[in-house]
Amino acid sequence: MRAALGYNYDVMPPLAIASTVPPDQQPSLAWLAEVAEAMLTLQVNSRKIEKDQERSSPTHGEHEGIRIRIKSGALNAAAIMQHLTDYIMDGGAKGRPSSLDDYTELFQEVKRPAGTTVYDDDRVFARMRVAGPNPMTIERVAALDDRLPVTDAQLQAVLGPGDSLARAGEEGRLYLTDYAILSGAEAGTFPSARKYLSAPLALFAVPAGRSTSRALVPIAIQCEQKPGPSNPVFTPQDGLAWRMAKNVVRVADGNVHQASSHLGRTHLVLEPIVVASLRTLAPSHPVSVLLRPHFVGTLEINDMAQKKLIAPGGGVDMVLAGTIETSRALVVKARESFVFSEAMLPQALRARGVLDADALPDFPYRDDALLLWEAIREWVDAYLRLYYTSAASVQADPELQRWAAEVGAADGGRLRGFGRDGRFDTVESLADAITLIVFTASAQHAAVNFPQYPIMSYVPNMPLAAYQPAPDRRDGYGEPDLLEMLPPRDMAHMQLSLGYLLGSLQHTRLGVYPDLSTPRDPSGLLGSVISTLETVADEVAGRAHFADPLVAEPLARFQKALAGIESTIEDRNAARVPYTFLLPSRVPASINI
Ligand code: MN
Repeated sequence: MRAALGYNYDVMPPLAIASTVPPDQQPSLAWLAEVAEAMLTLQVNSRKIEKDQERSSPTHGEHEGIRIRIKSGALNAAAIMQHLTDYIMDGGAKGRPSSLDDYTELFQEVKRPAGTTVYDDDRVFARMRVAGPNPMTIERVAALDDRLPVTDAQLQAVLGPGDSLARAGEEGRLYLTDYAILSGAEAGTFPSARKYLSAPLALFAVPAGRSTSRALVPIAIQCEQKPGPSNPVFTPQDGLAWRMAKNVVRVADGNVHQASSHLGRTHLVLEPIVVASLRTLAPSHPVSVLLRPHFVGTLEINDMAQKKLIAPGGGVDMVLAGTIETSRALVVKARESFVFSEAMLPQALRARGVLDADALPDFPYRDDALLLWEAIREWVDAYLRLYYTSAASVQADPELQRWAAEVGAADGGRLRGFGRDGRFDTVESLADAITLIVFTASAQHAAVNFPQYPIMSYVPNMPLAAYQPAPDRRDGYGEPDLLEMLPPRDMAHMQLSLGYLLGSLQHTRLGVYPDLSTPRDPSGLLGSVISTLETVADEVAGRAHFADPLVAEPLARFQKALAGIESTIEDRNAARVPYTFLLPSRVPASINI
């Protein structure tokens, strides 16, 4: 494997990307079938937007599906993505929207997500920061700095006369989303319109009191980092200017979501770990046996992302706000500034000041993610202790130490903070690292990936680019100004289609470890289907994957813990606005879309 697979530092410099996708990491027929199904739905959706009744018939859709396979030749992920962008740009959704209805009418064959009519509600806007696609930016602040001159009067207009910035700060009730990473980002024009991207600051607060149902409310937005006469503080009192400022935040959040939280800090964190694992660990090494199911499809989908999705002229160039160079630079910056040892979930939440559930009661991502983190940690720890009985046994495993060194090495995976000086010295530190790998491949990716369909496909929820500048005064705007900020219909169609494809395909499942040894041989499809049916029971228990009978007991405990988390989250959802992205049944084991 070391001869066949290396690191390429040239395609997204200086990040380490796999030099190739080895045959055993290429997509399974089952994955391709799921993608083909989603593509069929999108093609029928496109025809229905064109209102071409004859061409929108399912028969035609099926026919098109066959054409995809023929056209794409190898039928790999990159070919599929090329086809998607080609036919959408060929399609019938053109021009500026005349009302928000133009966005809902893009949902024909693709089902329209619930809740699209309440998107502009202030409470929904606040909740998107803690239960939306990007719950990774919000942080607690003790006080505001000079960049954001909000007054007590502005805070009191929302929270009532008894409150103040000082008191809210002291009580841990002030929260900020700071999009400084977007400062100076150059906005693009591709494919056909001038786009805008700001680096806003948005202030939120939790109302005073002891009630556990206290939720975040928005207090103020400033559209750029430096205050000034043409960059005023907007508040909910400002009518249309406030609604436009919220759009500025949504666009910033969407760009940070895709470049940083999603691509940079899940997909591209796993990439060098997968490569180093394949290169340094024998397939029979216990760490490799545990991790391989969490790597399924990752190199392939990342190869597609690199060659098509984030290539010049690709989907990201079209729908995101920055020039493609800007967007790619953001991805690189997000991934390079990621420090593995600081990303352990409880520590990372504490560092952002959002771990305390008394101060911030409503944070569904945090609450559900912590349950999964603990369950994964217990499973990984129990599994590793079957093979490593002491710190000395970790230190004495040359294969493991070579893996640890290569993930962080300058001529290896270039991931910061992996192990201590590129080594693991204790079972605990190894268990932490492997927990973060499994968590990132499963729960973390699910939390940022799967909102792409139910939330982001309805473009006003999170437009990925603005098409008018941020508001620069507090009055004098009308409804048309609000609509003019939003994407044209073709780009909305593209955002919907990408969101549906990437956000609806749930392949593999956390806690299920199928036998990966079945060869991917199309001519042997029937045989493999039969053998799959025969081994379903074993696969569910994970026995087919783990040859060691000692694994069965801790694995059964992990599966039981996941079932318990499923009902805990169901119970929570009965008592809150539902947050479903971390239901274990909806969390794939690996990043494969
Ligand atoms: Mn993804």
